[in-house]
Amino acid sequence: MREDDAPASTRRLPQVLLVPFDSTDDIPQIVCCFGQPVAGNPTQFMMEKAFADAGLDWRYLSLEVPPESLADAVRGLRAMGFRGGNLTIPHKVAVIPLLDRLTHAADMMGAVNCLIREGAELIGENTDGKGFVESLRTLVDPTGKKIVLLGAGGAARAVAIETALAGAAEFTIVNRSLERGETLAKLVHDKTGVPTSFVAWQGDYMAPTDVDVLINCTSIGLNDSSGRVPVDFNTVPPSCVVADVVFNPAETQFLKAAKARGCPTLDGLGMLVNQGAIAFKTWTGIEPNREIMRDAVEEFLEA
Ligand code: NDP
Repeated sequence: MREDDAPASTRRLPQVLLVPFDSTDDIPQIVCCFGQPVAGNPTQFMMEKAFADAGLDWRYLSLEVPPESLADAVRGLRAMGFRGGNLTIPHKVAVIPLLDRLTHAADMMGAVNCLIREGAELIGENTDGKGFVESLRTLVDPTGKKIVLLGAGGAARAVAIETALAGAAEFTIVNRSLERGETLAKLVHDKTGVPTSFVAWQGDYMAPTDVDVLINCTSIGLNDSSGRVPVDFNTVPPSCVVADVVFNPAETQFLKAAKARGCPTLDGLGMLVNQGAIAFKTWTGIEPNREIMRDAVEEFLEA
């Protein structure tokens, strides 16, 4: 098989037709992703398609950075004048002391997925939750809604804080480990003032009859189309919007069960594209074509 015929996710380097480097006055602008592992991450493919579509002479590099090299990597990013970047596992919290300041939302969440360079300053932002809320708004306005959030890790933190800031009326955090769940419930309440309770997850979760939005923020179902999130869907009202942050596969077992119940659903691809589009706009000042970005992610993941 020729490399061009291989699925994008298995190619050694993303094969994107970039804007030709033909300027003698300027050099391409660079943004990057630091993570470990970064192989299989669709962001470079998505961003470079969007740069090419916007006619921008920008490059996006996926860089494998082990935890012990993160400080050197951030120094390098500053020294080489990168315009910004993304952080993925395991750097979202560890990067904070290496930055000049955080945005209000990133400070509340205690996690950063996006770096913005403004002059000599490197600012930490978090676009995950904002991307989720933009996706949610295509089906329902979170204002005044009762939200049940399954999970209490990094994604749950970002989704809960931004959904609370967007006007949610009440949260229930459901998590397997007590400590993480209780910590997130306290964080959401203390930082946003939204009433938030914690439920320890045992067996199939029974949803309250008045839930408006049910969100899977666990990693159950990631790369596993049969992975079952333990929820009794007979208790979920068909009017409830059901969302998953897992984006691979796009249609998880959780979303299939919700559809079978008659609930409107949102997949994790929308959040992924939106969080990337918000970062793109912040770095370049240009609104990217989100359809091109979604097509790129679907091509990469063969969704
Ligand atoms: P974390 O490791 O920080 O958190 C994982 C969460 O899943 C924890 O609450 C953990 O519970 C829970 N969990 C895992 N396995 C089980 C299980 N078998 N039963 C019950 N609970 C379980 O991961 P992240 O929050 O960083 O990521 C979560 C998901 O979000 C991933 O799939 C990631 O790909 C996705 N994501 C999607 C984004 C998008 O743009 N669509 C952006 C960011 C993340 P416990 O505390 O008990 O261990």
